Amino acid sequence: MLIVPEREIADLMTREAAFDAVERVFAAMASGNAYNFPVVREAIGHEEALYGFKGGFDQAGLTLGLKAGGYWPNNLEKRNLINHQSTVFLFDPDTGKAKAMVGGNLLTALRTAAASSVSIKHLAREDAKVIGMVGAGHQATFQLRAALEQRNFEKVIGWNYHPEMLPNIEKVANEAGLPFEAVALPDLREADVIISITSAFSPSVMADHISEGTHIACMGTDTKGKQEVEAELLVKASVFTDEIAQSVSIGEAQHAVGQGLIKGTDVAEIGAVINGTIAGRTSPDQITLFDGTGVGLQDLAVAAAVVDLAVKKGVAIEVDF
Ligand code: NAD
Repeated sequence: MLIVPEREIADLMTREAAFDAVERVFAAMASGNAYNFPVVREAIGHEEALYGFKGGFDQAGLTLGLKAGGYWPNNLEKRNLINHQSTVFLFDPDTGKAKAMVGGNLLTALRTAAASSVSIKHLAREDAKVIGMVGAGHQATFQLRAALEQRNFEKVIGWNYHPEMLPNIEKVANEAGLPFEAVALPDLREADVIISITSAFSPSVMADHISEGTHIACMGTDTKGKQEVEAELLVKASVFTDEIAQSVSIGEAQHAVGQGLIKGTDVAEIGAVINGTIAGRTSPDQITLFDGTGVGLQDLAVAAAVVDLAVKKGVAIEVDF
């Protein structure tokens, strides 16, 4: 069995490799070659932790496994460890033998950033110039850095519930040589592309904050009850997602579907757009919305890619297991 420790991931994994792995697995999901297993998520009654498993099998890439981990809210304060902790386990689909154990913390951030980037590549207008960020936490910096590679953006605007965190994304914008402006929510109308990545349980972004022709990637809502955008926006927009079952149950679409504003059949898989089975954006005025809920297959795809890179560079630790 191979081990790729968390400390090696930053030097091995690139945004390009994460993007390719995620784009490929979304396409495999839509063509029926890859599927996610039901998600397990439990409050374990110890250290206030939420722990669970996200797994799946990609028959096209022959990737089988799971990501185990979750959220330990006391880690940082008590142990100087980050609160999100996860590890990916890969298995040989021919034999069931354990194949690899891979640090999953940085990979989670990279695969989530890759998902909104894949949506921008396939759904945003080619002439997009202004990108808007809603959220300025840990994940927002990854989302923005990856998104900036998808279009010739000229300006970053941003809003955050805690304005004191906005310098996090301003720094990323400036590193890319772009100006940053903190804005009020209605000023998001200036944006051609928006990424929302917050832990909100009530919507900040209203339907009339979004101009015609905008692409919005909603990335924060991955649990029942969370919500970043007004449900009405999903009526105005063409809605795409990583996985429809998750979108309507734990994603942003849970609210619009729950309120009877749209149906599950109104939500399309981004993988089908990647495969060319369905159309993505069909007009410059269309609002497109990507409901990125985060699936186990994304984790497996980036973990498999990093194992290959670790073997090539000779840094994978081999153990007799
Ligand atoms: P973080 O704690 O670093 O940042 C949280 C962000 O949410 C900050 O910008 C904060 O100001 C904002 N926020 C907090 N309360 C808010 C409120 N009431 N209204 C509006 N904004 C509020 O967290 P993070 O690591 O950046 O993750 C952000 C979210 O993304 C989390 O909800 C996480 O579960 C989710 N996430 C989703 C995926 C996916 O695949 N879809 C992957 C990773 C993380």
